[in-house]
Amino acid sequence: MQQHNNLINGQWTAGQTVAPNINPSDLSDVIGEYAQGNAADVDTAVAAAAAAFPAWSTSGIQARSDALDKIGTEILARKEELGDLLAREEGKTRAEGIGEVARAGQIFKFFAGECLRLSGETLPSVRPGIGVEITREPIGVVGLITPWNFPIAIPAWKIAPALAFGNCVVLKPADLVPGSAWALADIIHRSGIPAGVFNLVMGPGRVIGEALVQHPGIAAISFTGSVGVGRGIAAACAQNGKKVQLEMGGKNPQVVLDDADLTQAVELSAQSCFYSTGQRCTASSRLIVTDKIYPAFIEALQARMAKIKVGDARAAGTDIGPVVSQTQLEQDLSYVEIAKAEGAVLAAGGGRVACHTGSGKEGFYMQPALLVDSTAGMRINREEVFGPVASVIRVRDYEEALLVANDTEFGLSAGIATTSLKYATHFKRHSQAGMVMVNLPTAGVDYHVPFGGRKGSSYGPREQGRYAQEFYTTVKTAYTLA
Ligand code: NDP
Repeated sequence: MQQHNNLINGQWTAGQTVAPNINPSDLSDVIGEYAQGNAADVDTAVAAAAAAFPAWSTSGIQARSDALDKIGTEILARKEELGDLLAREEGKTRAEGIGEVARAGQIFKFFAGECLRLSGETLPSVRPGIGVEITREPIGVVGLITPWNFPIAIPAWKIAPALAFGNCVVLKPADLVPGSAWALADIIHRSGIPAGVFNLVMGPGRVIGEALVQHPGIAAISFTGSVGVGRGIAAACAQNGKKVQLEMGGKNPQVVLDDADLTQAVELSAQSCFYSTGQRCTASSRLIVTDKIYPAFIEALQARMAKIKVGDARAAGTDIGPVVSQTQLEQDLSYVEIAKAEGAVLAAGGGRVACHTGSGKEGFYMQPALLVDSTAGMRINREEVFGPVASVIRVRDYEEALLVANDTEFGLSAGIATTSLKYATHFKRHSQAGMVMVNLPTAGVDYHVPFGGRKGSSYGPREQGRYAQEFYTTVKTAYTLA
């Protein structure tokens, strides 16, 4: 069994113990053993990053651009192999895994370019004879804490801008899926960047994550994960004076209006709600459907769902892989029961199933669930499930649909299916989400534009695209007497 160590100060370093990485499509398949570090490992990694910072932050934009470009090139060249590893450890299909790996490679390439595009401003002073320059500088050592659902893309979209703008990094990936993050760390290590610039410390969030958040040597924390953990991190960062960026949950609405193209609306709803096993923060979980199209929409969506093949993430013909873990599966199934107890009606799926290939492999397979006759106040429509579970709310008209769509403590992504320019334009303007989709699934975003939400979904500056510089740099204003 291959053992995978932490990367600290350019050295592969054993942890105190190891944890197995288990394939959710086949519980007898152990992918490898991964180091479990402790707070002392975080200390060493932060010290190494701090020592590397002066040279890295002044190394010059060409050197940083070349390093990121090299990393992106290797990721793209190995996308099939790494996509297979991702599918094996996380449970999204092989095609989705390859797509995610390609995304990670593209992100590194994008930020290789961003190294060269960082600009400042020069202004005249209000005092004659003085010039003012505004520049952006790196912030120091950043701690990156990432979730299990995008095991390579989310680390990539935090690491690439951090390094591009001259920061040093300590990454703590999700304990459930450390394999893709380890493979990424290996690529970064072999790219030739100096020891200590990038460090990987694996282990439980309560140990490694908390040590990073509390560490005085960490200038900023970028976190993606659940609301509960995120809020605790924000409070600790405020206490310790750290810059913080949080991307958290969603309860993303998909509005379907009477004038929608029915086939398109059904397809994008199925994609939004169930693909990637519904385990995307941008997945839709509330379908808000107007009166006249409601019966035809439900019937067509049930027919579409009947064709979905659930099974081994890496098997040919699989549309939807397993749920990531036993805990998550139990949560998904329990929300189906909660919704039924509240009065919603289960119209499709909702139970544990066997792999469609008939392989007999034991995995966390769940048939996507559709709950109809739900109302906006039910727990199923207010709390994030994070699985292949969608509930439908029937509304009178567009105005009510918009009210219900915005009636949530979250605000990550929102979609509308309509052929009306008037309603599409109004929805784009009045949706209280950070990302709005017209006739597109709520999930599925570009890497060169900002990503993030409003209300309880996000906190701090946006990630990705050129907006990423807001978090990963600090502004300096310099005055010069001419
Ligand atoms: P968690 O919040 O449980 O974990 C996220 C990360 O935080 C993991 O690395 C975890 O470590 C770590 N962590 C856990 N406890 C602490 C702590 N006390 N201090 C510091 N770090 C800690 O989320 P999940 O991994 O379960 O991810 C699912 C969640 O992520 C969903 O709610 C989803 O909505 C959200 N998400 C949001 C996205 C967005 O951009 N808005 C994108 C993707 C997911 P460990 O794994 O070891 O527990």
